[in-house]
Amino acid sequence: MLDKLTHQPHGVNAKALESKLVRVGVLGFGGLGQAAARVLAPKREMLWVAAADQKGYAYESAGLNPDNCIQTYCSQGSLGHLEPGGTLSNHSIQDLIETASVDGYFLALPNLPNTFMASVARQFIQAGWQGVLVDALKRTSALQELLTLKDELQEAGITYMNGCGATPGLLTAAAALAAQSYAEIHSVNITFGVGIANWEAYRATIREDIAHLPGYDVERAKEMSDAQIEALLDQTNGILKLENMEHADDVMLELAGICSRDRVTVGGVVDTRNSKKPLSTNVQVTGRTFEGKISTHTFTLGDETSMAANVCGPAFGYLKAGISLHQRGIYGLFTAAEIMPQFVH
Ligand code: NAD
Repeated sequence: MLDKLTHQPHGVNAKALESKLVRVGVLGFGGLGQAAARVLAPKREMLWVAAADQKGYAYESAGLNPDNCIQTYCSQGSLGHLEPGGTLSNHSIQDLIETASVDGYFLALPNLPNTFMASVARQFIQAGWQGVLVDALKRTSALQELLTLKDELQEAGITYMNGCGATPGLLTAAAALAAQSYAEIHSVNITFGVGIANWEAYRATIREDIAHLPGYDVERAKEMSDAQIEALLDQTNGILKLENMEHADDVMLELAGICSRDRVTVGGVVDTRNSKKPLSTNVQVTGRTFEGKISTHTFTLGDETSMAANVCGPAFGYLKAGISLHQRGIYGLFTAAEIMPQFVH
C-alpha cells in the first residue's frame, strides 16, 4: 500500500490518491487468480484487497500480500487460513460480497457447471452490490446465459465486462479492430497455443478444454477425477488438440456487428507438460476492402507471453474501462469486442 503511494509525484495529498485507487477483488485463487495477484502487485492505480477460493476468503483493506496469500493457499489449501485477514467459509463468495469494500472483481472461477458464472452474477445482484465485474469465460452458451441477465445487471447498478481474457478477450478485440479495414468480413480464425508445465496449476482451464474434445462435454469433464484426467493426458503425451471449439468469440463478434457467428472459428493446441507454446497464438481476419481486394490481417502474440499474462492483463484493462463506465452511470453487460480496454498503471 505504502509502495503504491510513494510511486506518486510529490505534493499530492495521500488521501486523495487513496480515493483514486481502484480496490480489486479476485474470485478463484487457482492458476489465474494467483497470476492476477502478481499482475496487480506493481500497479499504482489498483489495490488488491480481497480474494476467495472454494473454502475461504481473505480481505485486507490496506492491501493483500501476494506471496503470503499464495504460500498459504498452496500449503494449507485455502486463503481462509491466512493470518491475519483469512476466514474459512463454505459460502466464501457470498461472505466476501457482504464483508469487503471492493470496486471491481475479476472472476477467475471455473465455469463448471456451464451456468456457474451466471449464478455468481446473480449472487451479486441479489446482495445489492454495485460495481464492476469482469470474467474470462469461454463458452458461447455460458455467455448467452449471462446475456439474459443484462437488464437485471443494469437495474442493479453493475457494469459486467464479459469474455475479457485472451480468447475470448484480447484476440476477439483485435479481430474487431482488424475488421475496420474491410467492407465485408469473410472469416475470423483464432488459433491458440498454450504451454503449461503441469496441468494441476490450471485445473479448471484443462478440464474445460477437455470438455471440447470429441466424445466429451462439460458435464463429463466436470465429473472426471484428477486420476482420469491424468490417464487421458498420458494417452496424448500431455497434448490436447482442439478444433471448432464452442467459443464465445463468435457471438461476441456477431453482437458487435462485425460478422455472423458462423464465420468465426476457434481451435488450438495445449501442451500440459511444457511451458513452451506448441504454436504461436494468432487471429486471422479475412475480408474484402472497398476496392474489392481480398486480404488477411494476422495478429500474433509473442511466444514468450504466457496464457496468464494474456488473460490477466486484458482482464484488468477491461476492469479499468468498466470502472470509467460505472463512474458515468453506465451499467449492464458489455463484451470485450465492444469496449476498448484501458491500460492499468
Ligand atoms: P483453477 O482450477 O486453477 O482455480 C479455480 C479456483 O476457483 C480455485 O482457487 C478454487 O478453489 C476456486 N473455486 C472453485 N469453486 C469455487 C466457489 N464455489 N467459490 C469460490 N471459489 C471457488 O482455475 P484456472 O485454471 O485458473 O481457470 C479459471 C477460469 O479461467 C476457467 O473457467 C478457465 O476456463 C478460464 N480461462 C479463460 C481463458 C480465456 O482466455 N478466456 C484462458 C484460460 C482460462
